[in-house]
Amino acid sequence: MAVVRTICYAWCTPTRFGNSPQPCPFCHKRNRNNLRHICQCKTLHEHGKDTLNQPHLPRTRKFFFLANKYSHDQHTALTINALHIFAAINTFHSHKHNPTHDTKDLYISHIHRQLYHDNRIITHYNRAQQSHIWHSNTHDNYRDNNHNNDTTGP
Ligand SMILES: [Zn+2]
Repeated sequence: MAVVRTICYAWCTPTRFGNSPQPCPFCHKRNRNNLRHICQCKTLHEHGKDTLNQPHLPRTRKFFFLANKYSHDQHTALTINALHIFAAINTFHSHKHNPTHDTKDLYISHIHRQLYHDNRIITHYNRAQQSHIWHSNTHDNYRDNNHNNDTTGP
């Protein structure tokens, strides 16, 4: 569901409802509480890199909107990609209701909650903890997709 909401651009950001822009809940940059920024937010990306133990986790729009192509044997990459989106959107919503909570703590708790609820994910999560699914040479499309396009939307 989190993935579908992300692909459909259905996050409840202030600007989506015509409200004035707010700071990013992750990095606190002014007027950046919108998906255009959040999908490439460095702080959120760091939460994912640390928690999922993937130093080369992509920080691309394609990754965030689950638009990368995965082959049938890349279940772990696909699962970790979806898990990051799940934790990101749930952290976003939790933080709205608990603004004093640390977003990294929230991110980790949402990952753990999902692992608890769906134990098919645990195998992929453990695999990611033990090996780097993304390597620096697959970190390709960040530069292409992020050429100062913080103001261009999906
Ligand atoms: Zn941010």
